[in-house]
Amino acid sequence: NKSWILRQRPVGDLKEGDLELVEAPLEPLKDGEVRTRLIYLSLDPTNRIWMSDVDGYLPPVGIGDAMRGGGLAEVVESKFDGLKPGDIVNTGLATWSLYSNLPGEALNALPRLPGVPLTAYMGPLGATGMTAYFGLMDIAKPKAGETVVVSAAAGAVGSMVGQIAKIQGCRVVGIAGSDEKCRWLTETAGFDAAINYKSENVGAALDEHCPDGIDINFENVGGKIMDQVIARLNDFSRMPLCGLISTYNATEPVPGPYSFSNLLMRRTLLKGFIVIDYFPRFPEGIQQMAQWLMEGKIKFETDIVHGLENAPGSLSRLFEGKNLGKLIVQVSEP
Ligand code: NDP
Repeated sequence: NKSWILRQRPVGDLKEGDLELVEAPLEPLKDGEVRTRLIYLSLDPTNRIWMSDVDGYLPPVGIGDAMRGGGLAEVVESKFDGLKPGDIVNTGLATWSLYSNLPGEALNALPRLPGVPLTAYMGPLGATGMTAYFGLMDIAKPKAGETVVVSAAAGAVGSMVGQIAKIQGCRVVGIAGSDEKCRWLTETAGFDAAINYKSENVGAALDEHCPDGIDINFENVGGKIMDQVIARLNDFSRMPLCGLISTYNATEPVPGPYSFSNLLMRRTLLKGFIVIDYFPRFPEGIQQMAQWLMEGKIKFETDIVHGLENAPGSLSRLFEGKNLGKLIVQVSEP
């Protein structure tokens, strides 16, 4: 087997030597378990959080332990009645390993949907799609005609948030880091407007594109961008706090937001959430997203890199904004 092991806690950006790729014999399979071969590994901003010794929503990965992560895998051997070799499963939280022995009862064989590629289970029908769906629908509860702003808008979560909000009849403004991403948002994903935060004045652009203020801020980034959005929230606005990617590599505490008092004045509902808490409701979210996908109402992109050996080196794509859509490592052939 091949696995990435966490050797030391990264300081700032992940560096060579923080993780090590090791080879080891396969562990024997126990009753009730299946052996899976990883096809697609999901790379997520939270991978960086799990490497740090912080008080997060899950314990940090231990030094010397295999890096936590998961994706789509094929069952290659089964000692569990409900799964057979050839079945494709979403591993949930496993490790950055080619082969894993997993408890069968936690897994389901994924149905193949007509016209929908398998990678949809990493995007709209996977954890990032469920993050967008429940964060928006359950926390923000969008109403037709409202204005929704989403940051990291061309990423895996953000691109879904904006499209779901459009289906709800909202005006949607995305914030992203390149002209190419902004074009994709307006021309392909159907956003009403997109702001390139690297080349535009975000506050002035929000004033232009959100003439009636902002009812929902789906927050993925934090920092200066979040500050500009909070300053423009409407009375009784909602703010699902999904992520703060601009802070994950910080080596010093990050100050702000300076517009914090506006959350009081505008009676904003601010709610942090972690998608794993919605796990029992995933079937409901997946069913709705699958329907929209098959109706052609949801577009999704993947940014695929190849080879398990390239997993750590590719994580920086998320922090440098090189990905459009869901970042995936193809580890083996589907
Ligand atoms: P994305 O596919 O959105 O990739 C991250 C994107 O963030 C990059 O492409 C980049 O795009 C943008 N970005 C990176 N650094 C900065 C920065 N300093 N300032 C502004 N933008 C930046 O990743 P995900 O969709 O997987 O995750 C998006 C957010 O959602 C993250 O904060 C993540 O932690 C969070 N998340 C939370 C979950 C939860 O359960 N609460 C579950 C899943 C994700 P650009 O070119 O636009 O800069």
